[in-house]
Amino acid sequence: MAEERKCKNPSCTCVPPEGQKYCSASCEGTGDTIELDCDCSHEECQGNF
Ligand SMILES: [Zn+2]
Ligand SMILES: [Zn+2]
Repeated sequence: MAEERKCKNPSCTCVPPEGQKYCSASCEGTGDTIELDCDCSHEECQGNF
């Protein structure tokens, strides 16, 4: 069974490290706030404008 591993920040498209829900502290810091712009600064992230 393939587990979808994507950052829990809805605007983020990154894959978090093993055992983590978020790819970065920046995404984790969004908490229950919904941001359209992702601040993780990963180049592959498509939520980063
Ligand atoms: Zn991101
Ligand atoms: Zn992220």
